Amino acid sequence: MKYDTIIVGAGPAGIFTALELKKRGYEGSILIIEEGAAIEQRKCPKAKTGHCVACDPCHITTGFSGAGAFSDGKLSLNYEVGGDLPDLLGAEYVQSLIDYADEIYLSFGADHRVEGVSNPEEIKEIRKRAIMAGLKLVDCPIRHLGTEKAQELYYAIEQDLLARGVEMRFKTECTDLVIKNGVCTGVKVRKKDVEEIIEGGRVIVGVGRRGADWLARVCIVHGIAHTAGTVDIGVRVEVRNEIMETINDVLYESKLIGYPNPFKDKVRTFCQNPGGFVAQENYENDLALVNGHSYKEKKSDNTNLAILVSQNFTEPFHQPITYAKKVGELTNMLGAGSILVQRFGDILDGKRTWQKELSRSNVRPTLPDAVAGDITAAMPYRAMTGIINFIKSLDEVVPGFASKETLLYSPELKFYSNKVKMDTDLTTSVQNLHCLGDSSGWTRGLMMASVMGIHMARVLTK
Ligand SMILES: Cc1cc2nc3c(=O)[nH]c(=O)nc-3n(C[C@H](O)[C@H](O)[C@H](O)COP(=O)(O)OP(=O)(O)OC[C@H]3O[C@@H](n4cnc5c(N)ncnc54)[C@H](O)[C@@H]3O)c2cc1C
Repeated sequence: MKYDTIIVGAGPAGIFTALELKKRGYEGSILIIEEGAAIEQRKCPKAKTGHCVACDPCHITTGFSGAGAFSDGKLSLNYEVGGDLPDLLGAEYVQSLIDYADEIYLSFGADHRVEGVSNPEEIKEIRKRAIMAGLKLVDCPIRHLGTEKAQELYYAIEQDLLARGVEMRFKTECTDLVIKNGVCTGVKVRKKDVEEIIEGGRVIVGVGRRGADWLARVCIVHGIAHTAGTVDIGVRVEVRNEIMETINDVLYESKLIGYPNPFKDKVRTFCQNPGGFVAQENYENDLALVNGHSYKEKKSDNTNLAILVSQNFTEPFHQPITYAKKVGELTNMLGAGSILVQRFGDILDGKRTWQKELSRSNVRPTLPDAVAGDITAAMPYRAMTGIINFIKSLDEVVPGFASKETLLYSPELKFYSNKVKMDTDLTTSVQNLHCLGDSSGWTRGLMMASVMGIHMARVLTK
């Protein structure tokens, strides 16, 4: 079986490639290979069981639309947010792709409301406080799909692609790339226990954060040029909505960046969910990570957001993902396999948090599976110090943020994969092989991954 284009991974990067190829009249055959299920079959059993049953593969991170389907669906509409693609393709062009992709999302039913633009005077006031606290505020208009609406929207895209003749193979894992004499000629796949080689004129790999580790190994085995990537190590913070009220109303999502003493690593806020819920997601080898999302209709009393410390390594170390995973494994070990949660005041007092103490606070954990404990026993000193000092600075912008009862969940890790070396046509050092989205190391979000897919399609049809 031979296809003109094989796309590995049905995340936003992969599906926007297929969508744009079809929009531009591409007549070649397209096959999408996806480890997870079709979107209509993606169901997290936790909704029924009340707790995570560790599906393999996890329905939250795999299947049509990738990590996007069950995500909060916040589309960042500014090129400064979502990854390093502007460094490769230029800021102006990437912004034009974002505007174009936004129109596509709207045409598939995204909400027309844009958050974070309606109160310029109040934004100025927040920026003033950020400057005084030594933090940078990045303006970023946000289109919020909401978790349940995102699923409807991606279902519409899935049906559109099928109607246009794009073939999709679900529950099929790509196990390797076929590379001969520096040219990629196909993929090796496995469904249940049946293995197969599928030939392809071009292979486009967009396997997301879940597939980042796999792609890193493939790069080493096949000599695909890459550089060691950044990893973000952090926590998911949860406070009462009252504390975040102004920021939530004015910005919806605060993008604040600092370089706290003494290490001066980049620390930033990420993925803020007003009235949202803290969530657990499971990766290979039972690694349990914390994340957060919010629904359009169903709201909690809390706001959660990630605080992430970017860690870059220099010679001789080349395994940032393995390093971050070890931090995650250690934290999981202390939580007996569950996410750990600790109050900020207890961290400053040098004591663990006890389960009974959580119920004494105004803020009640929205992730009931989380186990009270001591995250500082697993978190590297460098990252923990950066987080504590950043939270103290944030308290000057958002009074009450550093209160004793503020909850810190761990491990919140972002693997950005090794950065695959590519030219502006997204061609790797291997001919006919392209890498996209979060697994390529160039993007970190729904919009930027979608944009990279659109650019890929334009390259293939130019
Ligand atoms: C809970 C959660 C909330 C999020 N909220 C937001 C948000 O609000 N806004 C935002 O911008 N971003 C958010 N993100 C991040 C966003 O979802 C990702 O940045 C985005 O989906 C990346 O797109 P991608 O196409 O690169 O990869 P992914 O969406 O991860 O898709 C990759 C796909 O490849 C498949 N795959 C992996 N390995 C293989 C293999 N070997 N063979 C076959 N298939 C494979 C996976 O099953 C997956 O479906 C969130 C993520 C999570 C998990």
